[in-house]
Amino acid sequence: MINLILFGPPGSGKGTQAHKLADRYNFLHISTGDLFRHEIGHNTELGLEAMSYISKGLLVPDEITIGMLRKKMEEDHDVAGVIFDGFPRNVLQSEALDELLAERDQRISALIALDVDDEEIVNRIMERAKTSGRPDDADEAIIRNRIEIYKAETTPVFDYYAQDNRSHKINGVGDIEEIFSRLSELIDSLPA
Ligand code: AMP
Repeated sequence: MINLILFGPPGSGKGTQAHKLADRYNFLHISTGDLFRHEIGHNTELGLEAMSYISKGLLVPDEITIGMLRKKMEEDHDVAGVIFDGFPRNVLQSEALDELLAERDQRISALIALDVDDEEIVNRIMERAKTSGRPDDADEAIIRNRIEIYKAETTPVFDYYAQDNRSHKINGVGDIEEIFSRLSELIDSLPA
């Protein structure tokens, strides 16, 4: 089993690329953001609670997020690997993920960060807001809040997996196919 973390700031294209990679490599794509939006769409208690954080551009508390991820990982999936998108978002979540995988005799194979600068991100998210219907995409102050939280809490996750050389960075600017080729090339070069 290959376990990849697709990493990068909000709006860096993780969702789009994770979806394409899942298709190509028969990976399960787990996006915690999508899982929360699913709960919100079904008006569940978890969804309502998550919404109060998401709408402000804040992270949902770890115990809620990790519990939801654990449940997803307990489902049976016939896949060649998993691609995590939007998780882990802080070091505590990285440690929890490592434990969840260790219980299954697995580990993270690699973290791949999409490198995109702030202004490009804000522009992309404002553009995405026109069709995504996501309230957290529509307000520039909330977007900037998400970017600040990414820098303060999430970037240490890159360093966490860099300690034993599992973190990689690729240029996240370009067209979708170009970035997909860069990602595929890197994945194909990972040790089996
Ligand atoms: P995303 O779709 O990944 O941009 O996530 C949308 C929002 O869901 C984020 O801004 C957070 O409020 C929440 N969220 C998603 N993943 C996580 C996570 N791993 N930890 C905490 N909150 C999360």
